[in-house]
Amino acid sequence: MATTKFAIAPMKAAQVPKAGADFEIVEREIPKPGAGHVLIKVQACGVCHSDVLTKDGALPGIEYPRVPGHEVVGIIDELGAGVSAWKKGQRVGVGWHGGHDGTCLQCRRGDFRNCRNRKIAGISYDGGYQQYMVAPVEALASIPESLSDVEAAPLLCAGITTYDALRRSGAMPGDLVAVEGIGGLGHLGVQFANKFGYKVAAIGHGPEHGALAKQLGASVYIDSNATNAARALQELGGAQVILATAPSSKAMSELIDGLGPNGTLMVVGAAFDPIEATPSQLIFGNRAIQGYASGTPADSEDTLQFAVLTGVRPMIETYPLERAAEAYARMMSGKAQFRVVLTM
Ligand SMILES: [Zn+2]
Ligand SMILES: [Zn+2]
Repeated sequence: MATTKFAIAPMKAAQVPKAGADFEIVEREIPKPGAGHVLIKVQACGVCHSDVLTKDGALPGIEYPRVPGHEVVGIIDELGAGVSAWKKGQRVGVGWHGGHDGTCLQCRRGDFRNCRNRKIAGISYDGGYQQYMVAPVEALASIPESLSDVEAAPLLCAGITTYDALRRSGAMPGDLVAVEGIGGLGHLGVQFANKFGYKVAAIGHGPEHGALAKQLGASVYIDSNATNAARALQELGGAQVILATAPSSKAMSELIDGLGPNGTLMVVGAAFDPIEATPSQLIFGNRAIQGYASGTPADSEDTLQFAVLTGVRPMIETYPLERAAEAYARMMSGKAQFRVVLTM
């Protein structure tokens, strides 16, 4: 990795210089927060599969160089003009929901997550792979004292995504809920599903995560390499909800026949190829396929408080910021146990 030096260079950042290029560690000036923004001294930042959008330029309109990162935990270091609800020294987090305008039709309806001008941290502006970042106040979540920085970070995307999707899925305590994929999202999804009182079927690809899935709260482990997972779910009565966390459209398509009557495939693993289902697979049994994208900072706070209440925690591997490229490669390999977190 190249290192670029400037005359005044008090902080380090891991930036993507252009779409598809390797990470580079650069020194930058500490930015100033504008009106309605705060400067955050970053303590930890999770590495999410969606960082591939910034790394590879998979979304149109990303300006480079860009610093990824939307699982950010840090301390407010400076307040911009007009900021009154947050204090210097307060510990805060920034997740996927990186800001909204408050004025579009969706915002006027209170549906901030679907703001037409919604911002995403690490995509619309520089995120948390750096020692200081600037964020708008509507992106901030407060962090409970009893969670460490590195534990809290993954809860701001992997955590909220699985927690919020499950709590709004319509599944009731005692229902069969399957969590597909035992990875960064899935290992949290299994824990949340267990704490919500569901009967949890964890679905992995291979035998290696079976014992752990049960420790995390699954009552059944289905190895989809060895068994037809949809049939296995039907033998258990059919799933009310299947939370599909692994970014594999093929794996998701193969599970649709595992849904029970009125069951929903909740899609949170972001893949780009089509999910395949026939109309009759959906019509007979009134089954649905629904996407779910993260949530607002208020939902993040609910996730964090629920984790404090119930003991749900991410399992993490930490890397220093200087090794961001290695940390990202580790996440992309699918071998991390289970969430990779950068420390500053
Ligand atoms: Zn994410
Ligand atoms: Zn809006």
